Amino acid sequence: MTKRKILILVAALAVVAGVVVAQYTPWLYWTFLPKEQIDEIVGEASGETALSTIIDINGYNRDRLSAEYAGPFVETQVILNRLKQYGIAAELVKYPAANELWDGVKGELWEMKPRHQKLASMRDMVPMLASGSQPTDVTADLVWVGRGTPAEIDAAKVEGKIAVTEGSLAAVHNYACNQKGALGVIGIAISRPYFDSLQMPWAGIGGRRGGGGGQRGAAPGQPPAAAAQPPQQPAQPQPKPKFGFQLPVREGDFLKQRLMTNEKITVHAVVESKQEKYNNEDIVALIPGTDPNAGEIIFSAHLFEGFTKFGANDNTSGSATILEVARLLNTCFQEGRLPKPKRTIRFLWGPEIGGTGMWVKANKAIMDKTLCNINMDMVGEWLSKNQAFMCLMRTTFGNAHYINDVMENYYRYVGEGNRERIQNRGDAYKVPLRIVAPFGADEPFWYSIETHYGASDHEVFNDWGVRVPGVMMIAWPDRWYHTSGDLPDKSDATQLKRAAAIGAAGAYTVATADDNMAVKIAGEIASNAARRLGHYLVVGLETLNKATDKTLLDAFKEARGYVEGGMLNEKDTLDSILQLATDKAGVGAYVAQMKKSVEATGAAHLATLQAHMEAMAKKLGAKLVKIEPSELDKKAMKIVPRTTAKMTAEGHQGYQKYLGAVPQDQRLKFPYTGELFTTNELQLLINGKHNVLELKSLLDAQSQRKSTVKGIMNYLQILKLAGLVEF
Ligand SMILES: [Zn+2]
Repeated sequence: MTKRKILILVAALAVVAGVVVAQYTPWLYWTFLPKEQIDEIVGEASGETALSTIIDINGYNRDRLSAEYAGPFVETQVILNRLKQYGIAAELVKYPAANELWDGVKGELWEMKPRHQKLASMRDMVPMLASGSQPTDVTADLVWVGRGTPAEIDAAKVEGKIAVTEGSLAAVHNYACNQKGALGVIGIAISRPYFDSLQMPWAGIGGRRGGGGGQRGAAPGQPPAAAAQPPQQPAQPQPKPKFGFQLPVREGDFLKQRLMTNEKITVHAVVESKQEKYNNEDIVALIPGTDPNAGEIIFSAHLFEGFTKFGANDNTSGSATILEVARLLNTCFQEGRLPKPKRTIRFLWGPEIGGTGMWVKANKAIMDKTLCNINMDMVGEWLSKNQAFMCLMRTTFGNAHYINDVMENYYRYVGEGNRERIQNRGDAYKVPLRIVAPFGADEPFWYSIETHYGASDHEVFNDWGVRVPGVMMIAWPDRWYHTSGDLPDKSDATQLKRAAAIGAAGAYTVATADDNMAVKIAGEIASNAARRLGHYLVVGLETLNKATDKTLLDAFKEARGYVEGGMLNEKDTLDSILQLATDKAGVGAYVAQMKKSVEATGAAHLATLQAHMEAMAKKLGAKLVKIEPSELDKKAMKIVPRTTAKMTAEGHQGYQKYLGAVPQDQRLKFPYTGELFTTNELQLLINGKHNVLELKSLLDAQSQRKSTVKGIMNYLQILKLAGLVEF
């Protein structure tokens, strides 16, 4: 077929693809799994069972008593008991913790003069005592410090008093108590005061001793921590913390009004707390596959986020839902309603990121045969109450993998099938695929397929030293996120049922996938690729629309970079399919066809960008621009880096020590800070197939911040010095 015919064919394909995506076919709802199997999974999924697990673990914000720190923690016990009840093999793995945990025993704050009344008590609400608060028994006056800026605190003369603030409790404690002699601090702030004036943050004072335990990534909404950072300075010794109390805004506002009218209020504060030894507890459960050499799929959910904070949604819901996935699949297998899969399905619960990382590091052999990870974090909230969407956070391009499209298939099935379309108004079930829990909401499944976001346990699997592509299922936003209000009354059995069904269907698709399924998935990836590349085309067009005569060349380069980066990612994703194939040659031939179709789609879009550039040049009265590779570009095109065995030899984060060992003077020869979107993603993109210019396209297509060829080349030199990469 001539090049011209291919371009026309593909242009036609793109249009057809556009149509399919834009308006959904109201009569077609499909899944990779056959209808009878998806119906079994959806039917068996019980949102109420997952909700009952949430209530057993986090029915209220519990004061963790001292004896519990010896283990197992209540969360661990509940999951283990249920796995036993379900007849699923499970193991508790303990990792002794290096640090001790803060444990609040008593926290009472009473007004003594002019009134005699209780202001705060840990007995009423556990988060009323800020974690990290140290034993104390003082009577002192309150002083208002407003938002708690240094200027406000200086003006308030807080020495020997207790500061009251509507600013950050930790920041005010740090300045007023650690530097200005205040005895303690009371916070009345919340990030969303006007929505629910009763919710309080799980605030802490004094760094990690505040009940932290385990390590966390950046919280959702915070920028990913992986940007290129200079080596850390040794930690400065911290002054001994004092104490902090939190009041819900509704109650705290009375204190604020009274203090702002200069009322003199004297309070008595009593705090008892202690440090506890503990173990990080990981639970591992297993549904063995029929073929031990066929690989595994692993579910993850953090059961703990520190040991003071609780969260029905974050993340008891994820923990309860992967447990429900285990129960429903195991039940269907035991009852012969679903054929047992050839691949093993594993489940991991533990302290967020830290605990997961310990187990993953200790089980490299299992990780080496694990195909992908499905991480559930905050999946059980009532969507409409939170004005939230159920999101699928795809992997980055560096972990290109079919699991993205497998999960999208089930999100779409539930999302498109659980909304009323006018075309279906004549049907008995106006909602064609009604998936609703008897005790849950009866509402659409607002879903969204998103680009990558970290900050949860999938990042342990996505790590360069592990390379198990991990996606995250997360409902966002959560209006009670990280507050005392994150309780089961905000959870929804329907949402839990749907999340369990989607997780189970996605994992079962991979666990049973044979060559026919591999072909089916590859075909759908090619279709989704057309849609995704279509999006990159319009991003490119918009980049050109914004160009001036001076920036037209750079805009054209950037516009082409989106499509080229997208194409490379789609082809890498298609290559990952071969993992599932027994007949590698046969499936490989089909995958090669699909890659051709991606190339043709991409070529059509690059032709469109060429035409648009010409139109923009005409509009701007500028000359047509032509991309001429520079000397550096020509050199970069010849460099195709690949990783060494050393890079994965020690599993999770094992490569860091080699990176850290590169002498500073060597590092300084190859500056990259500010010239690289993220070092993590560049590491992940190194696969022995992409040259440096392609690495740039793959990085740039994922970020508003663009990387430079020089920055990439320099960072590769450092990886080479560390012995992790060769070229
Ligand atoms: Zn979480």
